[in-house]
Amino acid sequence: MRIGLYPGTFDPLTLGHLDIIRRACTMVDRLVIGVAINADKGPLFTLQERVAMVESNCEAIARETGVEIITHPFENLLIQCAEDVNATVIIRGLRAVSDFEYEFQMVGMNRAMNDEIETLFLMADAEYQSIASKLVKEIKRLNGDISSFVPPEVAIALEQKLGK
Ligand code: ADP
Repeated sequence: MRIGLYPGTFDPLTLGHLDIIRRACTMVDRLVIGVAINADKGPLFTLQERVAMVESNCEAIARETGVEIITHPFENLLIQCAEDVNATVIIRGLRAVSDFEYEFQMVGMNRAMNDEIETLFLMADAEYQSIASKLVKEIKRLNGDISSFVPPEVAIALEQKLGK
């Protein structure tokens, strides 16, 4: 049984995240979505709200792919979280070159702590590559249309939090 861990803040979940989740499902039998508590990053959505967004949007993907998708809130080290859920692979999405430097360092340090867990980088479909949760929030704050970046349920939640 191959278990993958896809960690993130998901504040909020975007179509970019969902594209990576779909792709990850072709490679694992169980996908654990690690939802970082990240209280110090001051997330817009509570942990419960972020977990609920991931769970409701992953139901269909799990059904279609036959992969078990579960959420796992975590606050500790990523590599510790991977060990806790018995993951053999950590999945990360790569958007631009700017993501690379940080991810490169993370892999190096994670490998120093546990050499048996690989990190796998996936790229979203071109249509979704530029989507970032941070920008989605900024656009919504300025009253822009974010409907092509997030699932409908998340668009409604953003309207409730940030709508004018
Ligand atoms: P983090 O706080 O770890 O950056 P995010 O929720 O922003 O959490 O992102 C989680 C993961 O999803 C990261 O690996 C990030 O690079 C990836 N990701 C986010 N948006 C996209 C996208 N549009 N295309 C590809 N990967 C993405």
